[in-house]
Amino acid sequence: MTLQENYEPYDFANRRHIGPSPEEMTAMLEVVGTESLETLIDETVPAGIRQAKPLDFGMPLSERGALDRLRETANKNQVLTSLIGQGYHGTILPPAIQRNILENPAWYTAYTPYQPEISQGRLEALLNFQTLVADLTGLDIANASLLDEATAAAEAMALAHRVTKSEANAFFVDAQCLPQTIAVLKTRAEPLGWEIVVGDPFKDVQPENVFGALFQYPGVEGGFHDFSDLIAKLHAAKALAVVAADPLALTLLKPPGEMGADIAVGSMQRFGMPMGYGGPHAAYIAVKDDYRRALPGRLVGVSIDSRGNRAYRLALQTREQHIRRESATSNICTAQVLPAVVASMYAVFHGPKGLKAIAERVHRKAARLADGLEKLGFKISPDAFFDTITVEVGPYQGLVMKNAVNNGVNLRKVGTDRVGISVDERTRPVTLEAVWRAFGGDHLVYRDEYPAYRLPADLIRTSTYLTHPVFHMNRAESEMTRYMRRLADRDLALDRAMIPLGSCTMKLNATAEMLPITWPEFAEIHPFAPADQALGYAELIEDLSKKLCEITGYDALSMQPNSGAQGELAGLLTIRAYHKSRGEPYRNVCLIPASAHGTNPASATMCGFKVLVVGTDAHGNIDIQDFRAKAEANAANLAAAMITYPSTHGVFEGTVREICDLTHANGGQVYLDGANMNALVGLARPGDLGADVSHLNLHKTFCIPHGGGGPGMGPIGVKAHLAPFLPGHPETGGSAMTVSAAPFGSACILAIPWSYILMMGGAGLTQATRVAILSANYIAQRLAGAYDVLYTGCDGRVAHECIIDTRPLNASAGVTVDDISKRLIDCGFHPPTMSWPVPGTLMIEPTESETKGELDRFCDAMLAIREEPRAIEQGLSHRTNNPLKNAPHTVEDLIGEWHRPYSRERACFPAGAFRVDKYWPPVNRVDNVYGDRNLVCSCPPLDSYVKAPEPAEADVLASGT
Ligand SMILES: *Cc1c(COP(=O)(O)O)cnc(C)c1O
Repeated sequence: MTLQENYEPYDFANRRHIGPSPEEMTAMLEVVGTESLETLIDETVPAGIRQAKPLDFGMPLSERGALDRLRETANKNQVLTSLIGQGYHGTILPPAIQRNILENPAWYTAYTPYQPEISQGRLEALLNFQTLVADLTGLDIANASLLDEATAAAEAMALAHRVTKSEANAFFVDAQCLPQTIAVLKTRAEPLGWEIVVGDPFKDVQPENVFGALFQYPGVEGGFHDFSDLIAKLHAAKALAVVAADPLALTLLKPPGEMGADIAVGSMQRFGMPMGYGGPHAAYIAVKDDYRRALPGRLVGVSIDSRGNRAYRLALQTREQHIRRESATSNICTAQVLPAVVASMYAVFHGPKGLKAIAERVHRKAARLADGLEKLGFKISPDAFFDTITVEVGPYQGLVMKNAVNNGVNLRKVGTDRVGISVDERTRPVTLEAVWRAFGGDHLVYRDEYPAYRLPADLIRTSTYLTHPVFHMNRAESEMTRYMRRLADRDLALDRAMIPLGSCTMKLNATAEMLPITWPEFAEIHPFAPADQALGYAELIEDLSKKLCEITGYDALSMQPNSGAQGELAGLLTIRAYHKSRGEPYRNVCLIPASAHGTNPASATMCGFKVLVVGTDAHGNIDIQDFRAKAEANAANLAAAMITYPSTHGVFEGTVREICDLTHANGGQVYLDGANMNALVGLARPGDLGADVSHLNLHKTFCIPHGGGGPGMGPIGVKAHLAPFLPGHPETGGSAMTVSAAPFGSACILAIPWSYILMMGGAGLTQATRVAILSANYIAQRLAGAYDVLYTGCDGRVAHECIIDTRPLNASAGVTVDDISKRLIDCGFHPPTMSWPVPGTLMIEPTESETKGELDRFCDAMLAIREEPRAIEQGLSHRTNNPLKNAPHTVEDLIGEWHRPYSRERACFPAGAFRVDKYWPPVNRVDNVYGDRNLVCSCPPLDSYVKAPEPAEADVLASGT
């Protein structure tokens, strides 16, 4: 045979993303009991909802082809030095952190740390973040990140309103606040009926008339003040004080906490995260201890495990929207964990001395810049500044701005006759020379490297910060690298095992999709850079929007929301604005099924809507009688219905069109939660089903990694009639509604879904959906008999996820859903979604990316675990001292005395667990109650760390030979 005759065609396409091979799929179909993938889809997805036309995006690109395309697009962005400031600054991401965290799948493919035993690494990093923020702001307690500075300010406003004893209805905002912050505050206050008063803090604050006030420190034009007296006056009137502060400035300046502020917010962007045309970056919020229970978002706390060893876990109300639903004041779910980890490592890397040195260098550059400009005859304000100055240029604003661009520098327009300049960690002497040239000076204008500081003596920080040993470790890169590696190794992310979390769609985040996000052409663009420097971004956003519209059946899309929950709020605000435009501003009733994700009712409440809960029937479907009755009874005021499709129970409801029709017939609009798009792409389109608006979780269906709990992107698609009401932005125009600090949210990571779609093509995307449905049905089939599968469609099939009921095991053997989840950790798996949407159940979503081998390993583990309650039922195993109750097991269980009625072998190596590549959780089961009773939310002292005993000398010798 010649080589030619021996030639076998090899399918390169999509094997990266779709786990099961064609042979594996055949075997899976056999188990499921259907002849082909097409038949399975016909059985599962109701014919009435299928889309008419297949997705057609042309030929899919290879990895190289997609990267070439991305490169071409990136080259259309022009990287100038942006000294625009306004909340975004150049920063130096230490390469060790870039490679070992930001570009490391052990960190970026992790899930939100709801299962603490497999999340100790990122929980420690987040605790470092909280300590960093609390120390810098001088406040007692900080959370583990918010989405951006503007929404953090809005969360602070809501918090102030929630805890204040003031009867006032207005919130004061410093005119020196960032314009995007003011825009978001106005958007968030209006539906709740709060008034925003913008003005000069020292002239316009009327403490009696506000429930809170926000000051910017330093202000957008560079000045700063001691707000202590003003804050005391606010307190006397029962109002709260919020300070939006630059964390780098706080290394040199008196922190908000020492001025008496109740809350501090801000962005940690300049702690290592590139500007990325707007994000992703971590925002922070810190509060006085009195308000810790009102703190929105996630909070990491210290607790103990079942051996009494230190363990971290999320504390208190960390899923507020799930618990409080329509009475929640915040809808924060996905936040910014990965950027927060980067910021915390930046602080570990530099330590307090290093951070202060960076801040001093930045200030010296600003002072030098100012000296030079003054020498050139310009008038500079303010007299005291940190990194930002404002220069009076009279009628020459346009000329100076243009000269600056010609010298490779972007400056900020201030009013009509001034120019703002913010220097940063990256600013070099040549940058200063370029600025002087833009103002008509020559490059030798000012040579003094050590100008006088222009910080006011009475605001210099005297208090210490970052005293914890973690910020004082030996920072040799060898040690730093090992610290990051050690933390990563404590966690179970997608780079080790499947993460079958229902509703969260933990699918492959392909490396090729991740590469572009750190290319300077994407990473180093300021969100407010002139449009002609971001043509690559414009092309990416336009093409991605077009493709997402095609996928969803919508007509227009906004990339602004930074998470699914933010998308919900943006979408509902869009609906609200639409009703208003039609002279029906009173429409305010929102129907939401009881099974909805907690963010749905929380978002509706934040939009000023009144939530009416609609029941579900025994099959998990919306109770259509109840829905009809409530829609008709509220026809005069119906604003919207929020539904999820396929439902959160993982079923394609046959009544979806009827629900949309009923809503419309009674004057409402339909919000379809798009979190489950992984079951729809290529098969059905929300826009065709009758929905008016949806968010897409690009960090679920479209491959942005979860990052351990963020970043994400939650763009909304709308039908044409809603398009005029989509979010706008003070920097780019459009409607007055602004939901994020940056016009296109976390624009930088849009390269990920775009390359995913380019590499999959329409057929590949559709195939992914089909295989996701196959995999879920395969698991449902393999587990059937051992576990009850809750909720199937009329044909007995599930959609892309399945819910199994563990409540019978509790009744028969006292085994809880927690026990089964923690036992799965022994088997080397991340537990599925626990007790949501139904208490006592597990929701399993395998996604299309897992191979049959991995699905089988999971099913084998689940089936073996099922035998353990059976042994209890039969009296062969102890009711409380058994592998389930004691799970997960750690290396501690391998040493010392062992008195348990089962073997160490069984404890640590159940079905599914690897021998050599065994994942060892670093702690035994974590005690949540202990942690909430003894709340500690910053780094505990070093001596409380558990130390492994020193190895005996003999062991060291043995292991070395
Ligand atoms: C994940 C999810 C959300 C919230 O999305 P975030 O991006 O975390 O804010 C809303 N609804 C459903 C059904 C979800 O699964």
